[in-house]
Amino acid sequence: MQRVKGIGVSPGVVAGRAVVLIHRAQVLRYQIPAARLAHELRRLDESRGRTREQLVDIQARVAQRRPELSSLFDAQLLMLDDPMLLPRAADIVGEQRVNAEWAVQQVFQEFSAVFDDVADPYLRERKGDVADLVGRLRMNLRQGVATPRDLLRELDEASVLIADELTPSIAAQVDWSKVRGFGTDAGSRTYHTAILARSLDVPAVVGLHNASERVQAGQLVVIDGTAGDVLLDPTPEELARAARHADDHRPAAMVEAERRRPASTADGVPIRLDANIEFPDDLAAARYAGAEGIGLYRSEFLVTSGVDDIRDEDRQYEIYRRMLEGMAPGSVTVRTFDVDEEQLASRLSQRPLAAGWEPDEERASRQGLRGLRLSLTRPELFRVQVRALLRAARYGNLRIMFPFVSSVEQVRRARAMIVEAAADLGGRGEHVPHVPIGVMIEIPAAAYTADLLAREVDFFTIGTNDLIQYCLAVDRADERVSRLYEPVHPAILRMILMVRRAATRRRIPVSLCGEMASDPALLTLLVGLGLTEFSMTPGAIPAAKQVLAELRSDELRALARRILRLATVDEIERVLLAALGRLTLIKGVTS
Ligand code: PEP
Ligand code: MG
Repeated sequence: MQRVKGIGVSPGVVAGRAVVLIHRAQVLRYQIPAARLAHELRRLDESRGRTREQLVDIQARVAQRRPELSSLFDAQLLMLDDPMLLPRAADIVGEQRVNAEWAVQQVFQEFSAVFDDVADPYLRERKGDVADLVGRLRMNLRQGVATPRDLLRELDEASVLIADELTPSIAAQVDWSKVRGFGTDAGSRTYHTAILARSLDVPAVVGLHNASERVQAGQLVVIDGTAGDVLLDPTPEELARAARHADDHRPAAMVEAERRRPASTADGVPIRLDANIEFPDDLAAARYAGAEGIGLYRSEFLVTSGVDDIRDEDRQYEIYRRMLEGMAPGSVTVRTFDVDEEQLASRLSQRPLAAGWEPDEERASRQGLRGLRLSLTRPELFRVQVRALLRAARYGNLRIMFPFVSSVEQVRRARAMIVEAAADLGGRGEHVPHVPIGVMIEIPAAAYTADLLAREVDFFTIGTNDLIQYCLAVDRADERVSRLYEPVHPAILRMILMVRRAATRRRIPVSLCGEMASDPALLTLLVGLGLTEFSMTPGAIPAAKQVLAELRSDELRALARRILRLATVDEIERVLLAALGRLTLIKGVTS
């Protein structure tokens, strides 16, 4: 047995087989049972097939316009056949019994080390091509597996998560009835996740330095959140101790109690908590978590997961109707498709699903043609979605929301199409009830004109995921600048306040559905800014309820006023954490 010392941030002792998440590389490493090895190797093979088709397709399109660039893809196609790439990944899957994503990542690291050592700068630059190819292989492995939660669904009952870093938004997506506890290498900056762990009653140890490298996928591990230890290959006595603890310890009972109680602050201000979902099947998880409604249904997953033909109005109508009936009397906010041309193009190269929605081949850049903007350029497809929604509306409590809006004109044009579709359906004898129409505020231009947009719509939903990236000019996927992606940047807090005030003045509801709402510490700050409606990943709802119940809204408002006067992210984080430490009864820190 080996003992790795860390900082216990949530008490309790649990044992399980390790699942390793490398957050920096966005890969999860888990063990594959012998019976599933063939399936895992097939996934690898299918990813290779799809990758080849896509590369050949892209190469052919590029060759028409820029023949000189087409040889770049020859290099990638050659690499695809390199015995050191996919055959090597298949060996790793077989020998180490790990998932294909992890094997591909490991091969990439081996390749990188070789490239880093060569002196020739031209050859060194080829590392970028390998990275590109590996990224495509990983994307194709994700086919049918859309979220980390989908991956975690495949796990055995008793797992523990060992990660280099665990952000609250990923933590919120984990099914904690399967994953019994976690340990992270990072410690000092994961305090938000530590709060979440305590709220969920999940034993956790942070500050383990290199545990994610030391622990093997599938290795038996004990997380002792009380002592602040992680035990690798524990003795039978240690396992018995964990089992005894599990018997006394029933986190499910806490979740059960939490989910029945409507959310409110300690002084009784009601807070509405809805769920963000990607698939109609997620409705059950939303209900189970205690969501009042669906605050964001990302309907574009119908397009990007390739399950349905987006030109099939009846099929869409069936899906929306089932969701509305399933959530009634709670409301369901359906966001119209938020895809860009690139996403459609990658689907097009695989199947003729959205053949009516061809990308513009002549454009060098497709940046920004997404969401409502794209829908308005493809009225025939937008109309199909709108008609399906309006027909389904009478089976529940529907709200329609437009994504990626940057002007009043766009809203007017989209609303006019809805009015037209409703009139057409009415003319055919279909009953169409009143459906509230709202917009996502996720582009700075929309935030700055929130007072004008508020006159045009029935509700706002603030999408901080995009708002932060466009306001701070930070591409989250680019690790060189992702450090600057700061939800508590003073500019973001001011924008949120500005939008909330514009909605209050016009007396329209405003909610916030970005990932920041899943983080209990940030949620309390948002309540301090006057927001009382949120939509978040279902798993985050019980913890949000518990944290809110411990705090007074007047104290949170005073805290937000103080924070709005601060100039830097560091100061804001320090003040927020110190205040929460005082305000909340943070359990487990001292026990
Ligand atoms: C957002 O931008 O905050 C949002 C919720 O939408 P998405 O993450 O789907 O872009
Ligand atoms: Mg968005």
